[in-house]
Amino acid sequence: MLYLTDPEGLDEVLGDQPAYRADQLREWLYHTPVLTVDEMTNLPKELRDAIREDLWPFTVDVTQTADRGRTIKWLFRCTDGSQIESVLMGYSNRTTLCISSQVGCAMGCTFCATGQFGFDRHLDAGEIVAQVAYANAYLAANPIPRSPERVTNVVFMGMGEPLANYDNTIESIRRMTDVMGMSARSITVSTVGFVPGMRKLIDERWPVYLAVSLHSTIPSERTKLVPINARYPIDDVIAAASDYYAAKGRRISLEWTLIAGENDSELEAEGLARIARQIHAHINVIALNPTPLSTDKPPDRDHVNRFIATLKRHGANVTLRDTRGQDIDAACGQLRLRAESS
Ligand code: SAH
Ligand code: SF4
Repeated sequence: MLYLTDPEGLDEVLGDQPAYRADQLREWLYHTPVLTVDEMTNLPKELRDAIREDLWPFTVDVTQTADRGRTIKWLFRCTDGSQIESVLMGYSNRTTLCISSQVGCAMGCTFCATGQFGFDRHLDAGEIVAQVAYANAYLAANPIPRSPERVTNVVFMGMGEPLANYDNTIESIRRMTDVMGMSARSITVSTVGFVPGMRKLIDERWPVYLAVSLHSTIPSERTKLVPINARYPIDDVIAAASDYYAAKGRRISLEWTLIAGENDSELEAEGLARIARQIHAHINVIALNPTPLSTDKPPDRDHVNRFIATLKRHGANVTLRDTRGQDIDAACGQLRLRAESS
């Protein structure tokens, strides 16, 4: 499995091939990825035959497109049968890939399809970075019109809690930056508030952006939506986010999934605006994408607009995120649930 070997270890895998072969292979895997080994035209046929089955650490179970071809979602099947998802979104100035870091998630957030599934296993760094390489290979063959033909931004907002799979997440970031040449500024790690991981990230050399999924400012309410709040309370999460901002100079984003009757009150909006001002954060609000295993609903549009208006009135910087690919179950973990129940 080529992506499951660290890039510097490829020389060993290739055995008695000339040394430049590993450079050529690294180039194909990380710089100009292609969908099939046969497109690696400068490798001899025998070598291509030998590695043909080893290129991707997964196969593609489902490819779905939405938003007139500008959103593409893959359900990948890893070699052990586990399924993971990635979503590619083309914009005019960037092409963003949302990637998974675990199969399932142990954090159990009630509104999240991945959380409802439970935890299965961590992804290897190679399985994480291969999602980016696959999207690049796909884009080279099928560019999204008027969008960059490479992944320009990566967000860890697919399945899993990246900071609970810390070493693999960090190794995947090392490969994206040091090996693939992406800028740390184009990578966003999204965390539910896994404080030990947030603290460790402060000491890493990559100034990636950090998104913190808050969802409630009232401790007892937050614990209901985000059970890990009982272990890592909101005040510790905010302190860690504030320290990250101080150390890295990267503005924190606070993520807020709006759920009707749960976290859409004026009181919550005021509390959220206060925290955002205090730590100079930007707020991203997204209306809930309903999941099959929960009766939670998003608020209606007027209510969403009122929540946003309250945040603004209290001096917060806020963006209402579009729910890209809703018709293809693009929220975290939903495509897999659909595939399993059909
Ligand atoms: N575990 C990390 C990253 C993956 S979840 C985290 O929680 O931040 C990425 C984002 O998707 C989180 O902000 C999460 O709250 C949001 N999300 C999960 N399920 C959702 C749903 N059904 N509708 C809208 N957003 C959802
Ligand atoms: Fe895990 Fe994030 Fe889903 Fe919570 S929202 S269950 S932390 S993937």
